[in-house]
Amino acid sequence: MAKSNTDQFLDHNRRYAKGEAVHRPSHPGKQPIQPARRVAVVGCMDARLDIEDLLGLQTGEAHVIRNAGGVVTEDAIRSLVISHHLLNTNEIILVHHTRCGMLAFTDDLLKAGLEGDPTASELLGKATARNFVSPARSSTSPAAFHAFRGPLEPLDAPPDASNLERLQWDVRRGISAILNHPWIPTSGPDAVTVRGFIYDVDTGLLEEVPHPGATGSIG
Ligand SMILES: [Zn+2]
Repeated sequence: MAKSNTDQFLDHNRRYAKGEAVHRPSHPGKQPIQPARRVAVVGCMDARLDIEDLLGLQTGEAHVIRNAGGVVTEDAIRSLVISHHLLNTNEIILVHHTRCGMLAFTDDLLKAGLEGDPTASELLGKATARNFVSPARSSTSPAAFHAFRGPLEPLDAPPDASNLERLQWDVRRGISAILNHPWIPTSGPDAVTVRGFIYDVDTGLLEEVPHPGATGSIG
């Protein structure tokens, strides 16, 4: 059986981690609108992740959906439904990563800081080593920031068993959200596959997160 695109990208990733430039710069306008590898990636916006480089993706091969954390949010699902049903992708790859900023705060803490709680503002300022200036106003949107659940880590903390587990929990939650969505088929002739990974920003390597598995609890 032929190797899946995801497995080919893992081969690329091992070469990338050794310093090889697998992604080649390309001129725009020469590719069809449907991604040639039929792949959609959901990855964190972290400035240290070059998704095309670390997967060895070429221009025109994949959709890349990015947000804070690489979280499978309602908006990520929106893009994935369009990606599959209208643009023919059939492999989804989730990329979380070590040292992610989403380990360093909670939704409640950030919301309290934004709404003017001085203790929260001080904690956020300390955690990020910048002056947190609270707008001191309330808002109903965004309804959630999707910070990763579990005990807070210092910003940019190196990987350990505890924060890796928190990353894995969120990858699994994302895989489950996709597998359980009524508009994303994961069986039958039109099935989409979903696999999740944690990218190590120190080594450049991707590690697969087994699914199913623990997803952690609130609090
Ligand atoms: Zn991140």
